[in-house]
Amino acid sequence: MLREQGLEIVSLCRGGFFPASESAARQSSLDENRRIIDEAAALGAPMVVLVCGAVPGQSLAESRRQITEGIAAVLPHAAAAGVRLAIEPLHPQYAADRSAVNTMTQAGDICAALRSPWLGIAVDVYHVWWDDRLEAEIARAGANNWLHAFHICDWKAQQADMLNDRGLMGEGCIRIREIRGWIERAGFSGFNEVEIFSNKHWTRDQDAFLADILRSYQEHS
Ligand code: ZN
Repeated sequence: MLREQGLEIVSLCRGGFFPASESAARQSSLDENRRIIDEAAALGAPMVVLVCGAVPGQSLAESRRQITEGIAAVLPHAAAAGVRLAIEPLHPQYAADRSAVNTMTQAGDICAALRSPWLGIAVDVYHVWWDDRLEAEIARAGANNWLHAFHICDWKAQQADMLNDRGLMGEGCIRIREIRGWIERAGFSGFNEVEIFSNKHWTRDQDAFLADILRSYQEHS
């Protein structure tokens, strides 16, 4: 249906959630990730985005160790299926239970440890805009061919919801154009994916929402 409309599948979102306190649960997350990779391959999606996971109460370092181990375990499956994996660092507000990978540095270190052409990073401005190492880490990722995806939206100073109150480009404080410049200088030539999780915008007239996305994309990204 998508292809009939001239649309291309960029990625399947999402795999991940590797850490768990019990080893049986870590094992079943590997099975689940292999299933998701197969699903991506069946759809013809070239990539799976990873929301890596975290366990409340478990140290973030231990969770990152389990994440690295989990990705290492499923990478051969991804390579065999021809599906790339992209670690999406999440804003530290999600460190308790959604991802222990919160910076480009941490994501890059996992890529560096595992060294696979099938593993890279999904850079989402919402999650990483505040990081003083962002420009340098984007350059490092570009030099190593780790830039797999670029997601844009905006960070509003006042948010009603931690997940679903993202702003249209220009509604918040992210210097999207500047970051896009870093991304392009680092060699990324893929899509700029507009990703606006928003209860507010989802309840509006969707044609009007789409028109606002197009306008804000032109003006602010
Ligand atoms: Zn994203």
